[in-house]
Amino acid sequence: MPKGMITRQPTKSGRHEGAKKFAGRPVLPTANPKKAASVLPGSAPKQAPKKAAKTTKGYNPIAPERVAEILKRLNERYGNVTCALHHSNAWELLVATILSAQCTDVRVNMVTPGLFKKYPTPKHFAALNPEELEDDIRSTGFFRNKSKSIVGAAKAVVERFGGEVPKTMDELLTIPGAARKTANVVLGSWFGIAEGVVVDTHVHRISRRLELTKNDDPPKIEQDLMQVIPRDRWILFSHQVIHHGRALCVARNPKCAECPLENICHAEDKTWSTVEQHKGAK
Ligand code: SF4
Repeated sequence: MPKGMITRQPTKSGRHEGAKKFAGRPVLPTANPKKAASVLPGSAPKQAPKKAAKTTKGYNPIAPERVAEILKRLNERYGNVTCALHHSNAWELLVATILSAQCTDVRVNMVTPGLFKKYPTPKHFAALNPEELEDDIRSTGFFRNKSKSIVGAAKAVVERFGGEVPKTMDELLTIPGAARKTANVVLGSWFGIAEGVVVDTHVHRISRRLELTKNDDPPKIEQDLMQVIPRDRWILFSHQVIHHGRALCVARNPKCAECPLENICHAEDKTWSTVEQHKGAK
């Protein structure tokens, strides 16, 4: 090996060189050494094995103390993060959420200021043919369907709800283009009502990686999360997980070496691991 070339090695602490240290990582209280081995770093850090290890006997990924630890660390890392979609009222948030399907929030935030300047109220949108809206929202993708949804939603809000976005899940679900995810965004982020958990692509992926659900279907994932996350954290949990999904737990090559959840995460597609992976974790 040429002089000066040193193979990259994990440090003695088990972290990559240059990886951010997670200050004050708490140790889970447990008297059970087998359980401790399942949630805490192993004695020797290692790269993620290709095949899943056997599930550790007694390991429960949705044990209240593990879930509480996940929530605590998300809080420490992401604090009081909020919805990334710019809006100044419930209607704008509803429209922005419809536009955000299969589109980045950054792109939606580029489109909505001009859109709401041109059509300031639901009444203005309700007076349009969907085709008239298409050019204004074309860059967000799926613009034909989104135009139909937004004009349909505007008509429903004007004709059935007196021009105001309703505050209940049942009523919101009658609005064209508003499924549970959209309804949960509006209820949680604008009205502060925790009626469910927003399950977008980030919450979907990370809930599975953290083994908070085994389901792959958003409505079922939401039901699972509602069982394990305390209700007073439903709104913030989604915001924090969405930020986590953008910053570290990205879809491909998650940045596990920098992740505050690393030593309690058993996802099979981790890029760096100090713990055994559990079968079924993704
Ligand atoms: S350790 Fe990796 S896979 Fe697990 S939550 Fe963190 S970034 Fe995601």
